[in-house]
Amino acid sequence: MSRPVIAIDGPAGAGKSTVARLLAARLGITMLDTGAMYRALALAAVRAGVASDSAADLEHLASRAMIGFEPDSPDRVLLDGEDVSGAIRTLEMGQMASAVSVHPGVRHWLVRRQQEIIQPGGFVLEGRDTTTVVAPGADLKVFLTASIEERARRRWLELKAKGEMVQLQEVVVDVVERDHRDYSRPDSPLALAEDAVIVETYGVDPSEVVETILRHLGERPDSAR
Ligand code: C5P
Repeated sequence: MSRPVIAIDGPAGAGKSTVARLLAARLGITMLDTGAMYRALALAAVRAGVASDSAADLEHLASRAMIGFEPDSPDRVLLDGEDVSGAIRTLEMGQMASAVSVHPGVRHWLVRRQQEIIQPGGFVLEGRDTTTVVAPGADLKVFLTASIEERARRRWLELKAKGEMVQLQEVVVDVVERDHRDYSRPDSPLALAEDAVIVETYGVDPSEVVETILRHLGERPDSAR
């Protein structure tokens, strides 16, 4: 499997980004952070003064905004050529991203763009529809899980490390709200793909999670490809 596509799904704070980044490095392939693309669109909307419930305006924005990644540095998110990697990593942009991502028109354009990006193969993509909508034919589909408290604690530590002064309780509320929205949205709700492998991340070192995923990858029937 020289250029595999591995999709990592699961709720907010389950460890998708950390695990996907480590796994991609381990396999020498590229990571695609799909959430960063929704965040970039959220930023574009805020800048353009488009409200999170203006479905038609958001779809128009999604069809036109050039959202991508720096070719040699997939952590660098570009919005119309500008590096917005820092600007999108705030609690506010996470909430706005969650709100704009409920619109089917928005998802249509971003999913299309994500499918274009992974088309050549050699990607670990992460996000809460990657196993069911973006890459249902992935070589391996993984669903990461952890409790709400643990996921909120991780988000809180991340935000604190970036200098955002938020209360843990605020982040717990945010995670609960996001879960609710992500599981209940009519278009592409967070769901478990039938053939996904479920991996618990609570109390497990991310490098061990990666080892578990690599074992599953090795067990695929076509892994010798
Ligand atoms: O993963 P991250 O927190 O960066 O994602 C921001 C928001 O974008 C999520 O809360 C989710 O609502 C949305 N999202 C999505 N589909 C994806 C990735 C993220 O709807 N594939």
